Amino acid sequence: PRTDGATQSDNGLDIRGLRKHYGTFAAVDDIDLTIPEGSFFALLGPSGCGKTTTLRLVAGLEEPTAGEIRIGGADIAHLRPHQRPVNTVFQSYALFPHMTIFENVAFGLRRRKEKNIDARVGEMLELVEMQHLAKRRPTQLSGGQQQRIAVIRALVNKPKVLLLDEPLGALDLKLRRQLQLELKRIQTEVGITFVHVTHDQEEAMTMADTIAVLNKGRVEQIGAPVDLYENPRTAFVAGFLGQSNLLSVHVTSRDATTVVLDFHGVRLTMPAARLSATGTAVEAGVRPEKISMAELGHAPAGTNTIDGQIIDASFIGVSTQYVVQSLADPEEELTVFSQNSSTELRRVGDRVSVHWHPDHTFGLHEGA
Ligand code: ATP
Repeated sequence: PRTDGATQSDNGLDIRGLRKHYGTFAAVDDIDLTIPEGSFFALLGPSGCGKTTTLRLVAGLEEPTAGEIRIGGADIAHLRPHQRPVNTVFQSYALFPHMTIFENVAFGLRRRKEKNIDARVGEMLELVEMQHLAKRRPTQLSGGQQQRIAVIRALVNKPKVLLLDEPLGALDLKLRRQLQLELKRIQTEVGITFVHVTHDQEEAMTMADTIAVLNKGRVEQIGAPVDLYENPRTAFVAGFLGQSNLLSVHVTSRDATTVVLDFHGVRLTMPAARLSATGTAVEAGVRPEKISMAELGHAPAGTNTIDGQIIDASFIGVSTQYVVQSLADPEEELTVFSQNSSTELRRVGDRVSVHWHPDHTFGLHEGA
């Protein structure tokens, strides 16, 4: 029974205290996840962080060292893979080459001697608009088409949870972008819980309702893409999801709404709700695209302002990336992204006041 007050939805996936050790190495190190029914959930992290192992534990392809895996409240951790109400889509499509597309999709249904096979396969082919290719064989399809078939083949018997292990990893960038949107649409239409493993932060942000960022076998942070991006709680999450400037600061005062910070004698403020660390030495961050630049001394009132000098400017088409060295401490540098449409270009050597709205400041969970 749960003690945290959360309610378990009908077919949600609930993981508690999951561990997988190889010898003394913990590939999965005490993971808890609550994945609501019908959500699109991404496991995101760098190579080796344990995301594939987590997925394989849910699929039953690995035996956990410890922990519970529940779907709809029932513990499935010790069921055999085919007894679990889950299916998996792998990066390699693994279609049967000697069968037609229709038979590939029908395969699982035939094996279980199910009824209405024609209608159910037809419905799935329609979902990906591939009815007209039903008689072809896998080698006569493009990579993107084969992966669509692999997805509907895994959905046709209506698993409670679909596991996707880097399913778009073998496709080129343009096709990957297209299939990201398509997978998202399919998930919305069928309403089945998707758990998607990827190391690509843009892919996770595009597709998922909720992302769990994994690092060294542990969950660093869980949240909606915007929450993770706007309010990363660790340096790892801040750095893995985009770029950020992290500043070592001291807390000078705090009340219910605002924290006042000191950065080399410069006063900065941030919302109290965005700083959970309790000590005086903390780390605060701001995304490069949230920062603007003004002539030295001309930053708008009420902003967090740091005076500096541009030491690098890289034109990257839609924007320019500047590196600004703080006048107060030359060891401190800030990266600033400026949209080229909205700002005049500035040059290396220019003295500027960089500024941002206090609300765009985030605080890291652990102290500096
Ligand atoms: P990738 O994106 O590279 O697949 P991942 O996040 O999916 O990375 P896992 O495949 O889950 O990572 O592996 C997690 C860690 O566990 C890695 O360090 C890996 O070397 C290790 N590992 C995985 N399987 C085994 C095994 N059978 N024996 C020993 N170590 C393993």
